[in-house]
Amino acid sequence: MPWFSYHGGHSGEFCRHAKGDLASVVARAVEAGFSHYGLSEHVPRYRQEDLFPDEQDLTPADLERSFEAYVTRARALRDQYSEQIELLVGFETERLPPGDWAQRMLGVRERWGFEYMIGSVHDVEGLVVDFKAEQTKAIAERFGGPEELQMRYFAALRELVSTLRPEIVGHVDLIRKFDGPAAAFSARVWPHIEATLEAVRKSGALLEVNAATHRRGLGPVYPLPEILALAQRMGIGVTLGDDSHGAHDVGVGLDACMRAIAAAGYREVGYLAREAGVVGSVSARFAKLQDVHPR
Ligand SMILES: [Zn+2]
Ligand SMILES: [Zn+2]
Repeated sequence: MPWFSYHGGHSGEFCRHAKGDLASVVARAVEAGFSHYGLSEHVPRYRQEDLFPDEQDLTPADLERSFEAYVTRARALRDQYSEQIELLVGFETERLPPGDWAQRMLGVRERWGFEYMIGSVHDVEGLVVDFKAEQTKAIAERFGGPEELQMRYFAALRELVSTLRPEIVGHVDLIRKFDGPAAAFSARVWPHIEATLEAVRKSGALLEVNAATHRRGLGPVYPLPEILALAQRMGIGVTLGDDSHGAHDVGVGLDACMRAIAAAGYREVGYLAREAGVVGSVSARFAKLQDVHPR
């Protein structure tokens, strides 16, 4: 009976916009009945201008040191809890800095020997689109409107998926984060969504169904039902991500993710697991929908 999430485990210990320490996240994951839980802290940002408003007293070098400490702590917890839970240690990508993000991300993966990555885009051409509604609106105006911004976002994610070939693609329609419960994409944007899904299909990645928007009351889980239904018709596998930013939201909203997966017509959910528990031997498997629940 697998129960899993691969995008999350952000903690206040290594990320300013998360809460609590990583040990409490892991303890909560055990308590919540997870058989597999992925830790995917945000990759460091390498330009001073990419630091968040709450990081203004920090430098990119501080973020790198913190990330290094995350890897050490995550692996210690993985070993400490190995009898209770399979903890996978990965990271979540950025498409930053705009020039050499691909080399940076591949370099991070290789340097630390991460078992998986969540391929995510949070910016469009260097401008962060998931921070504040007003900011995203201003960025859209700069590019000529919301549709233009959306098309650029999907093109950016498409390129990231083909280039990095992540195991899991994170919050595929993040760009509608501030569009509310009635979020929808226009006929002009749909071909770009479809092309991005095609890149996901080709790469063999799992598409994550992510609880964050739902949990924050911002709208349905990522991706929107129509996108998930299209992914199902295209034969793209899905998996779960709670996108937890502290022990308080470990597993919260995954029930809504499971309902969305069932409603889209899926019969199976994908998950990452190690071969005979050997670190570094992670591969994707599939479990029947009815077999996926907390232990
Ligand atoms: Zn975060
Ligand atoms: Zn993200």
